[in-house]
Amino acid sequence: MPRPRRCRKVGLKPNIDYFKPAGRRITELEEVILTVSEFESIRLKDLMDLDQGIAAKKMGISQSTFHRSIVSARKKLADAIINGKAIKIKGGKFKLVDMPLRTFECIVCKTNWEVPFGTGRPSNCPKCKSKNIYRK
Ligand SMILES: [Zn+2]
Repeated sequence: MPRPRRCRKVGLKPNIDYFKPAGRRITELEEVILTVSEFESIRLKDLMDLDQGIAAKKMGISQSTFHRSIVSARKKLADAIINGKAIKIKGGKFKLVDMPLRTFECIVCKTNWEVPFGTGRPSNCPKCKSKNIYRK
């Protein structure tokens, strides 16, 4: 019996959930289906440049599950771009969580990190402990 899939946490619902090559009718197109958790893994890792461990934790899944999700997402996006397919974002098990974050940067070592709203301003850099930090 397959293990039940854990519900993934997603911080941002896709604004646009359908992309298609210009100048082609939808009826002529093949579609790739990107799940919302695949969408989220691309957003966290490839767009926000988060460390894989942090991204997995945000989504409430293991690093290996996260890795499978992002590999699958990249493959689907590549398939769509190379083979001229439409991309539909839907489905998968996910829970939308409110994850507004503030990004801080350390002036000394240039480390960037995120802190959820409502947890107070961090007093120093998590890496070098410098107090020379600012909100981006
Ligand atoms: Zn630092």
